[in-house]
Amino acid sequence: MKIICIGRNYAEHAKELGNEIPESPVIFMKPDTAILKKGSDFYIPEFSNDIHYELEVVLKISKGGKYIQPENAANHYDEIGLGIDFTARDLQSKLKEKGLPWELAKGFDGSAVVSDFYKKEDFDLKNLNFSLLKNSEKVQDGNTSMMIFSPDKMIEFVSQYFTLRVGDLIFTGTPKGVGKVAENDILEAFLEDKKVFSLRIQ
Ligand code: MG
Repeated sequence: MKIICIGRNYAEHAKELGNEIPESPVIFMKPDTAILKKGSDFYIPEFSNDIHYELEVVLKISKGGKYIQPENAANHYDEIGLGIDFTARDLQSKLKEKGLPWELAKGFDGSAVVSDFYKKEDFDLKNLNFSLLKNSEKVQDGNTSMMIFSPDKMIEFVSQYFTLRVGDLIFTGTPKGVGKVAENDILEAFLEDKKVFSLRIQ
């Protein structure tokens, strides 16, 4: 399976990092080894002093395809969850300055946290609230209505380049409020009022 991620999909988040609002989706990938084993703590890697959380809605591909049209895109995923796109912001900034790819800053081991998945019919994906608490304080509070590119648009876009397969994950971008984690922090993610995971930082 592969993990496809979109960057800068919420205007307020693009602004907080000093980026322009993109005209077409900004796409990067994480390898399958990035997935943090369920129930494991997250260990801050030795190559970074500035690991940021980015809470995101994640789609799970249930039907493969290529050149998927937006009106059919909803047939290609049937479950959604939440994830954290952990980012080594210091390393990413250096790579961005040089115009180099972001993979080292985005795809390292443990950088993709994913919750359990839930039937998409049980939620309104066009108006879905999701939030992240750090040490019991709300740090990110998103709603999918604020996305620049909808899930269906994203699927249309990426499937022009990459064949989608069953089990692939799509991280749909983070709202504003990203920030640094420190040892002993506890992160808790909520999909509407449902707590879908909690995670300790080591
Ligand atoms: Mg992200």
